[in-house]
This record gives sequence, structure tokens and C-alpha cells, in this order.
Amino acid sequence: MNNVGSVSADMQDRPEQGPPLWLLAELTYRCPLQCPYCSNPLEFAEHKQELTTAQWIDVFSQARALGAAQLGFSGGEPLVRDDLAELIGAARDMGYYTNLITSGMGLNQARIDQFLDAGLDHIQISFQASDGEVNNMLAGSRKAFDQKLAMARAVKAAGYPMVLNFVTHRHNIDQIEKIIELCLALEADFVELATCQYYGWAHLNRAGLLPTKAQLDHAEAVTNRYRAKLAAEDHPCKLILVMPDYYEDRPKGCMNGWGNIFLTITPDGTALPCHSARQLPVAFPNVSEHSLSHIWYDSFGFNRYRGDDWMQEPCRSCPEKEKDFGGCRCQAYMLTGDATQADPVCSKSPHHHQILAARAEADLPQPPIEALTFRNERTSRIICKS
Ligand code: SF4
Ligand code: SF4
Repeated sequence: MNNVGSVSADMQDRPEQGPPLWLLAELTYRCPLQCPYCSNPLEFAEHKQELTTAQWIDVFSQARALGAAQLGFSGGEPLVRDDLAELIGAARDMGYYTNLITSGMGLNQARIDQFLDAGLDHIQISFQASDGEVNNMLAGSRKAFDQKLAMARAVKAAGYPMVLNFVTHRHNIDQIEKIIELCLALEADFVELATCQYYGWAHLNRAGLLPTKAQLDHAEAVTNRYRAKLAAEDHPCKLILVMPDYYEDRPKGCMNGWGNIFLTITPDGTALPCHSARQLPVAFPNVSEHSLSHIWYDSFGFNRYRGDDWMQEPCRSCPEKEKDFGGCRCQAYMLTGDATQADPVCSKSPHHHQILAARAEADLPQPPIEALTFRNERTSRIICKS
């Protein structure tokens, strides 16, 4: 590894704002699956342009010089890029810790071996459910479940640390015991049981995805029972349960602060402080027009919600603002139309009633999985036109 711990001259001149530590490279919005909770923008079909191999390597190099240490390869489905092994190799040569975030579609033994040779550190495979029928219905592919099972086994056999990720919602959260058992059988090192975060396609489908409080309580109790059992057995698998903030009264400290440690680059080179921020009414810079140093430290987009000058009441005078930064700017914008509002998850927000209404809606009978709006090119194009 080279460049480890290197600090650019530019970074030394910027004591007030730390560097980006986490780089998320959304290599493409293309994906063979159609998850109705996908975090890609609704209008992803409008953004077909992708950075070239050389442009991505230049982005990695600039971010590394600023101080970034972890690099996630994401999408869409990053495996649709034929240059993925080359990108992984370049990133590892720069000293990044590298993580592939994939659905497993398009993975095979040859590519697993190729990525190992390139130095890939870690693989995360996402599943839609613990049984083939629900998994394949959500994914929109009859082959998806078997392919994921085969690739999870192959990834472990190759010796990678492996995360299995299950996005949970009202249609699969009651399977939590089976999900955990499946992950243990597949020898996952980490299991991420992440309830939907309501952005992008998940926000569009929120009524059909948000679990009830009773479902969440059951999932939490089962997870805690398994945690205790695994700890007693000294089992290496770790269970991570991410609950939806819709059942909280205080918002999450989103992205650990706006433009604080996370840097996302979208397929066309737009730089974002978080992967959902593209929807905000803010002009975000592009790596083909500006250096990453300028983007991170000086651009309007990355400075827009740093600090607290932008805050309105009740956040402005709130003693908790150092802890949660007023919550999520995207959620504030989606629910109030104004990104400078307090996140409506907060019980002090004048818009908190929207969260309470969503909770009440979750208790009503909801249509079946087939009624969800699935993420695909055709639907995205319709949304773009509307
Ligand atoms: S969430 Fe589903 S549809 Fe979206 S990129 Fe991931 S695998 Fe593809
Ligand atoms: S009022 Fe604002 S800063 Fe205070 S807890 Fe709520 S969201 Fe956080």
C-alpha cells in the first residue's frame, strides 16, 4: 500500500474542516434488479452518463490525497462495470480499504478470484428475503435468490469477510428468525438487518413498506435473543439492527454532519454529501468541472448545511443541535418542502404530525407486494415525464 497516512499540502491549510474519510463511488445506476425501496433517485433513467475508468481513478486519487481511507463500490449494481477489477486494483494501490456493495447479480467465481487478486478487502451481498418466492418477487428476477445463495457461499470460500444485508419492511420483517438462521448457515461475519430508510423509491412506496410498531418490537426481541445466544456461544457473527427513524422522537445525526466525513460521487460525477442529496434544490458540483479539494472545502453545495447558520427554530436555539444537526436535510425537504426545517422525526418539529400519520397508516391493512412501485427504467422514465 502506498499513500497511507499521507496528507496533502492543501489539507494542512484547512484546519477548520476535516477531510472526507469515507468515499462512496456509485459507479452506475444500471441494475438488473428492481427493488421497490432502492435508494437511487426516482429519475435515475435521466442520468445515463458514467465516468470513465480514468476519471474514476483520478477521483480516487484526489480523495485519497485529501485523506479518504475507505472506499465503497456501489451503484446501481457495480458489477455491470467491466472495469471493476481495474478500479479495485487502483484503489488498493492507493491504500484504500475497499468494500464491494453488491446484489450478487453478475458475480461468478472468475470475478471473485479477479477481485481477490486486485486486493478487494470486503464484500457485502444484499438479499431481499429469506425465501426464494418473496426474494424473487421483490427483486424482479426468478434467478436472484439461487444466485445470491451461490455467491454468498463462493465469497466465504474465497476467504473474504462478508456482510449479508437484508433491507427489512412490512413484507419480510416477520421472517427475521429465518433471515438470521440463513445468515448463520451462510457463515456471514456481519448481518445488517436494516429497515427501509424512506428516501428515493422507498419514500414513494412508504405506505406499503413501513412496518407496524408491533412488527418492529418483534424483530428487535428476536434479534436480541439471537445476540445473547451468539454471545454465549462465543460465535463470531455480529447482528446489526437498524430501526426506522419514523418510530423515534429525535432524528438521527445524519451523515455525522453535512459534508463532515462522507463523500458520494454519483455515476455522472456529481459530488454529494450523502447519496440522497441529489433531490435537494441545491446545485451540486461535478468532478469533471472542479477539483475534489474545491468541491469538499469551497463549493456552495458542501457548505450549504455545515454549521448552524442555516437553521430555523426550533433547531437554532435547541441544546441538542450539536448532537443531531437538526436531523436529515433530505427528510426535512421531502416532508416539508424546505430543507432548512427541523427533520419532522423530531417531536419539536411543527411537522411531526406527518410522522405520526405515517405510523397510524402503517397500522391499516396495506396492499400486497405486487402493488408496490418497482424501480426500473420504464417507471423512472414515466416519473421523469410527469
Ligand atoms: S436496491 Fe435493488 S434495484 Fe437498487 S441498486 Fe440495489 S439491487 Fe439494484
Ligand atoms: S429541535 Fe432540531 S436540533 Fe433540537 S432535537 Fe429537534 S431536530 Fe434536533
